[in-house]
Amino acid sequence: MLERRSLGRTGLQVSSLGFGASSLGGVFRDIDESEGIRTVHHALDLGINLIDVAPYYGLTKAETVLGRALRGVQRDRYVLATKCGRYGPEAPDFDFTGDRITRSIDESLGRLGVDHVDLIQAHDVEFGDLDVVVEECIPAMRRAVEAGKARFVGITGLPLEVVLAVVDRVDAGSIDTVLSYCRYGLHDTALLDALPALEAAGIGVINASPLAMGLLTHRGAPAWHPAPKELQAACEAAAELCERRGARIEKLAVQYAVAELRIASTLVSSASPARMQSNVEALSDPIDEELLADVLAVLEPVHNQSWPSGIQENR
Ligand code: NAD
Repeated sequence: MLERRSLGRTGLQVSSLGFGASSLGGVFRDIDESEGIRTVHHALDLGINLIDVAPYYGLTKAETVLGRALRGVQRDRYVLATKCGRYGPEAPDFDFTGDRITRSIDESLGRLGVDHVDLIQAHDVEFGDLDVVVEECIPAMRRAVEAGKARFVGITGLPLEVVLAVVDRVDAGSIDTVLSYCRYGLHDTALLDALPALEAAGIGVINASPLAMGLLTHRGAPAWHPAPKELQAACEAAAELCERRGARIEKLAVQYAVAELRIASTLVSSASPARMQSNVEALSDPIDEELLADVLAVLEPVHNQSWPSGIQENR
């Protein structure tokens, strides 16, 4: 059985490995919907209880497919997180205004076929005007909690300084969770520096993308991946090293991320039941310390090298 950990002060117990449902929207490759639905059921059977999705993934497709998968599944078997504020490639791709957030939550509940989500999160706050995020989006999410449509409120984003700036600006207790992505894994451990402030604020931490959105896989990153060339090349070299040793970098990456106990859950995504199974099974094996040291040495020159995200630096 997968370990359960406390998510901040929410009282929720979440599996140390969570299911990221972005792949149900065909973000990485076109998927067969029935295979996607089987993957959700298999993930639950493997002991995963945290499921994270967003209207943005596959432009509502991931929520719709997930809703079909969850039909008939007992509601207490899963902790459901979705997002609001980020919508698509067409303008307005981001909208954190209060009315849109309220409407978005209702739309998500409809697609997911549930009367409430456990967690509603502002999606990638670095793309919003932070005044609007703080003064409109977070209050609108809290009103959804009062209305029984969500149980807790979170924010997500890549640049940790922006995430922490939002945490700093809101009243204590307004934000229950932070979802950080690509900032804790074999290539990057910047999230560790943010943990003390988040813990002090009682905020639960979710780490997404332990495979760095495909960088730390043998298949390699998708064409749209924003990582700089140097980081992509170092990750490829790390994957090749694992291959030469007869090991899989995905296994090492998942083991490494989940081993950090201050992170409540690590979200990994796949639309293949077999891949989700190998991600869970990876946690039963001890980490190969020698391989880990060699992979970290290959990645050392690009350690904590991230990429620009959002509009804050242009303001
Ligand atoms: P990830 O690190 O989970 O990588 C996903 C890629 O790895 C996919 O191509 C998948 O097919 C592949 N993969 C997964 N398991 C594998 C295995 N065992 N072997 C080989 N390949 C494997 O990155 P992600 O999908 O970006 O993140 C996971 C989830 O985290 C998302 O679905 C989403 O729920 C969440 N997330 C949220 C945000 C945000 O809120 N801003 C950002 C990123 C991710």
